[in-house]
Amino acid sequence: MKKNIQIAIDGPAGAGKSTIAKIVAESLGFTYIDTGAMYRAVTYKAMQQNIHLDDEAKLAEMLAVSTIDLKPSPQGQLVYLDGENVSAEIRSNEVTSSVSQVAAHAKVRELLVAQQQKLAANGGVVMDGRDIATHVLKTAELKIFMSATVEERARRRFIDNEKRGIESSIDKLQEEIALRDKMDSEREASPLIQAEDAIFLDTTELSIDAAAQAILKLAQEKMA
Ligand code: C5P
Repeated sequence: MKKNIQIAIDGPAGAGKSTIAKIVAESLGFTYIDTGAMYRAVTYKAMQQNIHLDDEAKLAEMLAVSTIDLKPSPQGQLVYLDGENVSAEIRSNEVTSSVSQVAAHAKVRELLVAQQQKLAANGGVVMDGRDIATHVLKTAELKIFMSATVEERARRRFIDNEKRGIESSIDKLQEEIALRDKMDSEREASPLIQAEDAIFLDTTELSIDAAAQAILKLAQEKMA
């Protein structure tokens, strides 16, 4: 019986990865790691410091002297950048629309991937992102590729933004999500792509609970 497995969940923006990954992690007593939050924190800091988002060397230099910590809390995972809680700031429209530009740089990815691998080294983790199954945790026992139609993903983001008090329009969100998917899938460094050994899960018509239960069942099988 293998208890401390690694579960990798990849997929495009708004597929439900983080909500579902959190439930799965909680049910199994695993740690949830949101890698998107790390790319967002780097983007936020670069914008604060007026670093050009195409300047790969400067971004890597900045990241090398930055600390990003993910801490679980009753309100969900909190993100600390250099000791400061930036959980709300990294979800702003400005960061969301720029993050794919920053995430496209190989040097930025290298540094963050090393941190992610360290966090997952002992297993007992659910990690979500874009390249987890293909690069970060290539030997993860369970790999899920989660998606949903772009319309449904935009609708979910709209509701999510409403809850966070962020103003948005469904049409704009749909555009922004489609553009981010395109940038994430077409970049050279670790593009968003389904791993050969990943299981595809379409969440368009699945409830959060049903999707979480489906993954939990697969996880139990791997752990048996
Ligand atoms: O998951 P989330 O939407 O917060 O991710 C924000 C962005 O971070 C993605 O659109 C993508 O550009 C980048 N990302 C990535 N690799 C990951 C996680 C996120 O490139 N593993």
